[in-house]
Amino acid sequence: MSDHKNQVCLLGTKGGPAIRPGSTNPTSNLLRIAGLEIVVDCGLGVTRGLVDQGMQLRDLANIFITHLHSDHYLELGPLIHTAWTAGLKTDVQVFGPKGLDRYWAQFIDSMRDDINLRIADEGRPDLASLVTLHVLDEGEVLSNDTLSVKAMRNVHPPLVDTFALSFQTKSRTKSKTEDAHVVFSGDTAYLPALADFAKDADLLIHEAMLEAALPALFGRIGNSDDRLYKHWMRSHTMAQDAGKVATAAKVGALALNHLIPSDDADYGEKQWQTAVQATWKGALHIGKDGMTIDFGGNVGNKPAA
Ligand SMILES: [Zn+2]
Ligand SMILES: [Zn+2]
Repeated sequence: MSDHKNQVCLLGTKGGPAIRPGSTNPTSNLLRIAGLEIVVDCGLGVTRGLVDQGMQLRDLANIFITHLHSDHYLELGPLIHTAWTAGLKTDVQVFGPKGLDRYWAQFIDSMRDDINLRIADEGRPDLASLVTLHVLDEGEVLSNDTLSVKAMRNVHPPLVDTFALSFQTKSRTKSKTEDAHVVFSGDTAYLPALADFAKDADLLIHEAMLEAALPALFGRIGNSDDRLYKHWMRSHTMAQDAGKVATAAKVGALALNHLIPSDDADYGEKQWQTAVQATWKGALHIGKDGMTIDFGGNVGNKPAA
C-alpha cells in the first residue's frame, strides 16, 4: 500500500448483531492512515472483510474497540487467532473499554488446547504474549510522530464506557497531501457535542437509523415488549440528526454506517439520502459492506477554507 493513501473501508455496515439470509455484516472497519492499517471494531465478518481488502493478517498491529456490544467485538479473538495462524509474530496493540481484558483472557483460555498445540507442533510464538491491551478512556489515547488518536465518551446507555474516535495525522504543516482526519461516532444517541470533536474532519462516519422504517422493523423482529424499541430511541441517532452533526462540524464528507434497518427492501439508498438531505448538503456515502472511501488532503473532497 502507499504510505500516503488515507482511506476507510467499511467492512460491516449493519447495526446490531443478528444476521439473516441476505444480511450485511455487523460493524467493522479497516482504516488506512499515516501509513498504518488500523482495525476499528471487530463485529462478525471482520477477518474475511480484512483479507478481502487485501490486508495481510500477519501485519495486524492496531485494533480499536469502541464499546462492548457484541456487534463490535464478537470476532476480536478469532481475528487475532487467525492472524496468528497466518504468520503473525509481531505485537498487536488493542485499545478498548474496561472489561475487554476479561473477554481476551477468557478467549485465550477457551482456545488453550489449540494454542498450546500450535506452539509445540508448529513452533509458533505464544499468542498471549503478542497482544497488549490498553484501556480506552477519554482524551488522547495514542500519539506518535505521524498520528494522534483521541477518544470522546459518547451517549449509548446503558453502557458508560462507549466512545467516539478521532484519527488525525500530524503532517498538516509539512505536506498538505498527507493531511487526514477521520472521526467515527461509534454507537451513540444524537450528540451535538460530537460536532466539536469532529470539527473540520475530512470524513465523519456516523451511525444512523432511518426513522420511517423503524415501525416495520420492530414488527418483523416481533419482540414481546418494547424494550428494544426504547433502546433504539435513547441510544442511537436518526439519519437526519447525523446530518446535523456533520453540518455543525463542517466535515468534508459524511458516511452513514451501523444502519438500522439494513435489510428492508423498501428502504434503500434513496430513502437514506432523502432522510439526510434537509440537514446535510455535502458529500454523502450510504454505507455498504466493502465500500472504500478515500479522505484527506489528497482527495479534494474538502472545500478550501
Ligand atoms: Zn452496535
Ligand atoms: Zn452498541
